[in-house]
Amino acid sequence: MTTRRQTVTVDVGGVPIGSAHPIVVQSMTNTDTADAEGTAIQVAQLARAGSEIVRVTVNTREAAAAIPEIVARLAEVGLSVPIVGDFHYNGHILLREFPLAARLLAKYRINPGNVGAGQHHDANFATMIEVAREYDKPVRIGVNWGSLDQQVLARLMDANAAAGSPKSGTDVMIDAMVVSALESAAYAEQLGLAHDKILISVKVSSAPELWQVYRQLAPLCDYPLHLGLTEAGMGMKGIVASSVALAPLLTEGIGDTIRVSLTPEPGASRKLEVEVAQQMLQSLGLRQFLPQVTSCPGCGRTTSVFFQELAQKIQDFIRDTMPEWKARYPGVEEMQVAVMGCIVNGPGESKHANIGISLPGTGEDPRAPVYQDGKLLTTLKGPRIAEDFQALLEAYVERTYGSDVPA
Ligand code: SF4
Repeated sequence: MTTRRQTVTVDVGGVPIGSAHPIVVQSMTNTDTADAEGTAIQVAQLARAGSEIVRVTVNTREAAAAIPEIVARLAEVGLSVPIVGDFHYNGHILLREFPLAARLLAKYRINPGNVGAGQHHDANFATMIEVAREYDKPVRIGVNWGSLDQQVLARLMDANAAAGSPKSGTDVMIDAMVVSALESAAYAEQLGLAHDKILISVKVSSAPELWQVYRQLAPLCDYPLHLGLTEAGMGMKGIVASSVALAPLLTEGIGDTIRVSLTPEPGASRKLEVEVAQQMLQSLGLRQFLPQVTSCPGCGRTTSVFFQELAQKIQDFIRDTMPEWKARYPGVEEMQVAVMGCIVNGPGESKHANIGISLPGTGEDPRAPVYQDGKLLTTLKGPRIAEDFQALLEAYVERTYGSDVPA
């Protein structure tokens, strides 16, 4: 059982973030925010996939001006997912010029590395904090090693050069990220922002450095931490890199909200990053989002594709049906389903699941035993095994999690 690092709770548009609450899944759009219709469609897609908060870049006047229409379009389809504004370079100008956007956004992401240099740095940062106070909004101090505050880095580099036993360049960079985040948070509080209106992130793109920077930061404050491997990459590489990077920290109780930064394959849906984040938390036993489908890898005993097709079909069916099931069948997300390739491990695995099927292996009798709550329910035969199993699954859900089920 993971013990979470203790934090205050920050309310982000009605979604509480902190150690007293489940780890929140969030995501970010890649549409041009000025395209209100396209952005609202993608936010809706991400929210329906399970993103509990969605961030949009607010990089131009047109983008800031589009926020009210995005929020209105979402409201029209019954979605009230909190929208976070990601600001760089000109956030102090946009938040002042577009008060409606400032009011409708649920949180502002501030990157202390690019709010301006020299005296402008503090003044621009102060303006954003002033707006946050005015509209009672939380902020995320989002430090990223690709845009690290050069003044903080130079200061620490100088001190390191003068030290008796200097640290490596990477260690100084990690120190600079932590110092930049904590000094910015302290400055925000000095400017009057409440302690429970601040979250922090310190993102890098390599797993060992991510562990180092978050482990260094975690004991130094009680702000909730936003966790993510920045620029994780595309497809399988990005999924593995993010999982390897985030899992140890989450297991240690570090991280209160996560984002998986995947580069989508050309034309692929953005919602994969949400599904990966959910699966990561589910695999770690930190949250349950949807029934778990256990399936064996298959081997020489399953030479036809029928087994893979059934496993895929059941998984897709559960994911697609989950929004409806979630509303009608409380607790269904805890259900375990097994789809196994043959009788070697099939019945054993099926008995451990709530409901499970073992397909006939190559050359075996074409029969598929189905187990329910540890007992043999029936043996399916014929060309409609897939459809018949899906019907049994639906009946099981209705019977076990339906409202007529005695408490
Ligand atoms: S359950 Fe059967 S098909 Fe699946 S991996 Fe094991 S032996 Fe192979």
